[in-house]
Amino acid sequence: MTTVNTADSDSPPVAALLERAEERRLAGDYLAGGELAQQAADLAAAIGDAAGEAAALRSVANQLMRLGRQEEAIAACRRAAMMLEGLDDPAGLCDVLTVQAMPLMDLGMHDEALGVLATAREIAQRLGDRELLYWVHNRTGVVHGSMGDRELSTACLMQALGMADGMNAEARFCILNNVSDNAVYEVTRLRGRGDTEAADRVLTGALGHVVEALTLAREARHPFREALSLDNHGMLLALAGDLDGAFRLIEESRRIAVEAGYRSLESAALQHQARVRLMRGDHAEAIEGLLLALDRAHRAGEKPMAMEIFRELSEAHERIGDFMAALAYYRDFHDLERELHNEVAAARARMAAHHFELDNVRLEAENARLEAELHRARSAELAADNLLWQRQATEDALTGLPNRRSADDRLPKMAADGPVWVALADVDHFKRVNDRYGHPVGDEVLRRIARILLDGIEPADLVARFGGEEFLLAVHGSGAEDARAQCELLRAAVAAYPWGSIEPGLSVTISIGLAEAAGPDALAGALNRADQRLYDAKRQGRNRVHGD
Ligand code: GH3
Ligand code: MG
Ligand code: MG
Repeated sequence: MTTVNTADSDSPPVAALLERAEERRLAGDYLAGGELAQQAADLAAAIGDAAGEAAALRSVANQLMRLGRQEEAIAACRRAAMMLEGLDDPAGLCDVLTVQAMPLMDLGMHDEALGVLATAREIAQRLGDRELLYWVHNRTGVVHGSMGDRELSTACLMQALGMADGMNAEARFCILNNVSDNAVYEVTRLRGRGDTEAADRVLTGALGHVVEALTLAREARHPFREALSLDNHGMLLALAGDLDGAFRLIEESRRIAVEAGYRSLESAALQHQARVRLMRGDHAEAIEGLLLALDRAHRAGEKPMAMEIFRELSEAHERIGDFMAALAYYRDFHDLERELHNEVAAARARMAAHHFELDNVRLEAENARLEAELHRARSAELAADNLLWQRQATEDALTGLPNRRSADDRLPKMAADGPVWVALADVDHFKRVNDRYGHPVGDEVLRRIARILLDGIEPADLVARFGGEEFLLAVHGSGAEDARAQCELLRAAVAAYPWGSIEPGLSVTISIGLAEAAGPDALAGALNRADQRLYDAKRQGRNRVHGD
């Protein structure tokens, strides 16, 4: 698989699609943004651009979760995480895990959400990356809040807020919004405990944060963020006693949500407006609003929100003394809670299956890689074996010269090109060399003779080790005289070699028998005659050349 960077010029379509997807995301248009990001991911997958695919899947997840498509968002995160692991990109992996925590939380899978955040925190700390760590704290705070642990939530969010200086506008907005959202619950909790002073302090701080968040959202012209912070601001104003102001702000949030199709924000706004009406004592209107919110929550598939609305409906009916209706809604609340519980279990099972599939994909890829590696190693070994075998088959191990078999192969080819002079050169009294100086010295003598002969012939000619201390020469001579003269030179070169450098007193000579082969068919006869002439040379005193 080839990997191409998203910024690379050979993959402009992936980068361009992703850029457009992110533009839509930043404008709060998650429907179009998610679609474009999915296209980018598909294209990247098709061309094997792993980094591009991971980046696109992150964008897919980030947008689908805003549209309530949590399971798809989680699946996209998982695939992105797998690719980033493969690319050995821990920062990218950490970032995707902080994204994955949100849809997990929305599905009620809090343990899993905290699990991926723990992994993300580990990576961020190991990398010493402040920005990543900021996101981990931020998201961990949100998950604890969603689990109802306001104290832990506040602690994490405050830690993130302390790190937000110098972060980009998106990061700053996110933490300001989360802190002020958390404050709505925190103020209620503190007042419930009778700690009005602490409650007021949290409320004042949160009002400051939410105003800054709203300003940032408007500066960025981001309707989703604007709607979010308007809703938060409204809830905080309600807690501060300004019920009319609260209602107005939440209504503005609702209007934006309806316009842009943010269904979960719409039902949240309806629910919050109902809460303000309950505070005012407008019970009938509150109930009406809650029913509308319930309808929106059902349509958006937001069961946790629907559950909360059932509980509020039950409380509202209790307040007006309609205990039958209160009980009915309380039952609905419980039924939905059980349903949600089962659904989370089913989602867990589906996700486990998806995890299993991913593991299989990963395993298959790893197996394929190992197999390819094995195959490569094996063929390299085979090639090396083959080379060695070829050399062993054609080369003499002691001298490195072609062996007899190789000479038998090459001689007919040489003879086919024109007349060839073949000569057999034999070391004189070689037995004595071995006897007097030892076999290793004998070996060295053979190696040096091989070198002298090789240096003395033309590259197109042939010298081979024919047997023990016997060498074969084959030269394309221009005539008998030339061939003989060449053999004479070789004989003289051996005789003149400073053999004393190997062992003091050592001297070595060769005798040569020479014959002409007119063509391939004449080779056998020529070799016989050369052997005959060699015998003659030995008989006549050695260290000489005999020819036809
Ligand atoms: P001549 O001049 O008549 O050829 O006498 P020679 O001693 O050379 O001939 P002979 O055939 O009697 O002996 C050849 C010797 O070459 C015998 C053998 O031990 C030695 N020999 C053959 N191959 C090798 C080798 O690879 N290394 C060594 N050191 N000796 C070898
Ligand atoms: Mg011999
Ligand atoms: Mg000999």
